Parts: sequence; structure tokens; C-alpha cells
Amino acid sequence: MATFEPVIGLEIHAQLLTATKIFCGCSTRFGAAPNTQLCPVCLGLPGALPVLNRRAVEFGVRAALALGCRLQPESIFARKNYFYPDLPKGYQISQYDRPFATDGAIEFSVAGTPRRLGIVRVHLEEDAGKSLHEGVAESGRATHLDFNRSGVPLIEIVTSPDLRSPAEAAEAFSRLREILVALGVNDGNMEEGSLRCDANVSVRPVGETRFGVKTEVKNLNSFRHVQRALEFEIERHASALNGGVALVQETRLWDVAAGRTHVMRTKEEADDYRYFPEPDLPPLVLDAAWIEQIRSTLPELPEARRRRFVDQYQLPEYDAGVLTQSMALADYFERVAVAAGNAKAASNWVMGELMRKMKDVGVAIEDVPMSPDALAQLITLVERGAITGPVAKTVFERMYQTGRSARSIVDEEGLARIGDAGAIDRIVRDVLAAHAATVAEYRAGRTKTFGFLVGQVMKATAGKADPGHVNESVRRFLAEPAGEPR
Ligand code: ADP
Ligand code: ZN
Ligand code: MG
Repeated sequence: MATFEPVIGLEIHAQLLTATKIFCGCSTRFGAAPNTQLCPVCLGLPGALPVLNRRAVEFGVRAALALGCRLQPESIFARKNYFYPDLPKGYQISQYDRPFATDGAIEFSVAGTPRRLGIVRVHLEEDAGKSLHEGVAESGRATHLDFNRSGVPLIEIVTSPDLRSPAEAAEAFSRLREILVALGVNDGNMEEGSLRCDANVSVRPVGETRFGVKTEVKNLNSFRHVQRALEFEIERHASALNGGVALVQETRLWDVAAGRTHVMRTKEEADDYRYFPEPDLPPLVLDAAWIEQIRSTLPELPEARRRRFVDQYQLPEYDAGVLTQSMALADYFERVAVAAGNAKAASNWVMGELMRKMKDVGVAIEDVPMSPDALAQLITLVERGAITGPVAKTVFERMYQTGRSARSIVDEEGLARIGDAGAIDRIVRDVLAAHAATVAEYRAGRTKTFGFLVGQVMKATAGKADPGHVNESVRRFLAEPAGEPR
């Protein structure tokens, strides 16, 4: 049986975060009662004229620039004609043969291997409405329609078929999401349908340069679904080819519950969209100065930031990846790192105690009550040896709960490290005296009791002594001849 190589390309629909729709002033707010955010334009009633939302174009340009695309000085809106209940006007306004952006690419790495994903095009379009089949009155007998989504602004991003595994495709989708969210043009919310992915896949014998027949799995709304649907399709393609069965180009849907894809429509029955230029909209002309102005407001993108964290702060790749999960988290970390003057310690604290706390109390970094400076002060106390590691965790907890500074908690609660060797020796002597029987056993050769004795001393110091010092001191006393300690 031949071994096959998968070839994958993605088409991603991302809702642009504008307050109003792409061709009218209706609200785009999610969760409103059905059919309350409508007007003649987004319903496509006769005589209603679309007016292009400048903000939507700006957000589209922002995304296209971040994806390294070439922006077309002039692009054209087109009508994509098809009949579907959620599209009462009978066509969707989109861009077809002249999209506003083409020829971009993103770079990222998968398990340390650098990858490049070409972006064929980015175009603007309006979303359709929504058919509700379940959880509505008389479901089973009736389909309800909600047109609030009609006319919500989208960009569609079409990638080149550069991806070679389901994991790589899921990773690429995740990177695209991360870029759009970092730009503030999309909220990344896949459950609410703000970001959806169509995955195209074919397989070919290893060594073959031509592409095989592709299928497209529509509307995947999680990284996991992208990966699983592709795994299923690749398996299906490979066994068809191995069994001498020809594949047909078709559009399929992923059935989450069944863990399989099924046919939605084949190429033969594919709609002929009869695209033609939208007569009610002039060409979209992008002013070069405006493009440059938008370019100047682009933030540092997550991938670049990850690289910088590795280079500038000498962080491990892993840390850089975790800390750049969101712009706000990366910002927080950087403030801690700068104020503490120790990036790796800052990274450990943010990824460790802080993120654990955020998870426990269910709070986002934006809402963390502890300032980066406050955390940096705690880190500085540990770094200077003013408090021990275990005590620092207690102080962190108190800081989080009370909002007090690390310094004042340490001072007022007497949590400073016991640095004085004489003081540690005195505590060790007292503890060993209190455990005379165990000490005798140790000296009789039962050396396993050493750990217990150290533990008792650590307890007596409330964690304020360095474990190393305590170990050394206990060992020294136990080495003294029997009869000691006095
Ligand atoms: P179509 O004409 O069917 O819309 P396109 O060439 O426009 O196909 O490509 C649509 C998407 O499918 C793109 O993301 C592209 O990368 C991907 N694609 C195209 N051909 C293949 C193939 N043979 N195997 C896998 N993906 C493909
Ligand atoms: Zn409207
Ligand atoms: Mg196409």
C-alpha cells in the first residue's frame, strides 16, 4: 500500500469587530433577541442602498497588512448569487476576482521547525443570517431564522495549500487567530461563530509533485475539530486510493458526535454563483497614505514577540510561547521582568503562581488585582535572599488577598529569612533535644530518620530558614558524639 502525503489549505472567515454592520448602521452585538438588529439594507429589500463601513475596511486592511499581503489600490465588490433561507436577498455581497489584498504569508514554527504559510488572498464580505433548527419552538417541524448576523462584516482569508499535516493545520489556524486577536480586529470567539475555518485537503503518493483531488470540510469551529476532521479525511482519501476508488471533489461537513465527515454537496451539484460586480457599490479605492497610517499602528505581533522574548530575555521557547498567549499577559510579564531585573524569575512567577491563581479564581490577566510592580517587589525580595522560596509563596497569597505590599507583609508578619547561622543552630539544637529518641536511632544507624528531623526543623522555622542551611546544621549536630546536643 502506498504511503500518502496530505496537502492542506485553509479558508478562514473572521468577523471584524466593528460596532455596526458592513453596509448599514445596524448593530453587530452578539446575543440580541432574534431579528432585532435589522434594516432594509441588511435584509436586501428593494431600493435599499448599501454604504460601505469605513471601519470594516480599516480592520480588513489591518489584518491584511499583518498577514504580509499586497494591498490592491482598487478592488471590486461582487454579488455571489445563491438561494438559501438564511439569505433572503438571494445574494451575498463579497469580493471575487478582484479582492482587496493578495500574496501574503505568515511564518511560525511547529515543534521547532520553521514553517511558512502563503496567504493567497483576503477579501471583504457580509455574513448571512442564521438558521436555528434546534432548541426552538416546534423544532423538528420548523426552522427559525435569525437575520441579526446578515450583513455582519467578515474577512475571508484563503491560504495556499502549504500545510502538510492536521496538527500543522490546527497550529496555523491557531496562529492566524492569535494574529487577528492581537490586532484587535476579531475576538477569536469560535463558539459564537466569530471565527470559522474551512479545511481543504487532498493526499498524494509521497514523491508526487502534482496535487490530488481535494475535499473541503466546512465550518470548523475549534482547533481540535480542524485536526480531527482532517485526520478523518486523510484516512478516507488514503484508503479510497489504496482501494482503487477515485475521489470526487466535494464539500463535506464534520459530524462532531459521530467523529466523521459526510457529504454536503459534490462539485457537480455545486452552485453556480453567477458572480457579477455589485451595481450599488463603487470600486473600493484604498488611499496609500491611509494604508501607511494603518500600518504605523500595527502592534508587535505574537510571533515576533515570542522571538524577542527568547533573544532579549534569554527565555526558553516554552516560556516565550506561554507568555505570548495574549498581548495583555505578555505586557504584564514584561513589566514584571523589567521592574524585577530578572526575566527568568519573572517568567517563573507569572507562569507559576500567578497563572495558577488566575485559573483558581477564574480571572483574566486584565483583571488581576496585583500590579506588575508589586509582584516584581516580591521577586526582588526572594532574589536578594530576604525571604525563602516557600515563604514567598505564602506572601504571594497574602498579597493577592489583601492588596498589601510584599515588603509590609514580610516586615509586619516577621517572615524575613533566618540568615544567621547561630540562630539556625539554636533551633536545630532545640528540635533535636525534643526528638532525643529519633536522634538516638539515627546514631544507631537508622539514618533514614534524617529527613524527618530536617522536616521538624523546617516546621519550627516556619519555612524561614534555607533548607540547605538547615540540612548542613542538622548533619553537623548529628555527627557529634552521643550525649550531644546539650
Ligand atoms: P476552489 O476553486 O475549489 O475554491 P481554490 O484553488 O480557490 O479552490 O482553493 C481553495 C482552498 O483550497 C485554498 O485554501 C487552497 O489552498 C486549497 N486547495 C486548493 N487545491 C488544493 C488541493 N489539491 N489540496 C488541498 N488543498 C487545496
Ligand atoms: Zn441593517
Ligand atoms: Mg476558491
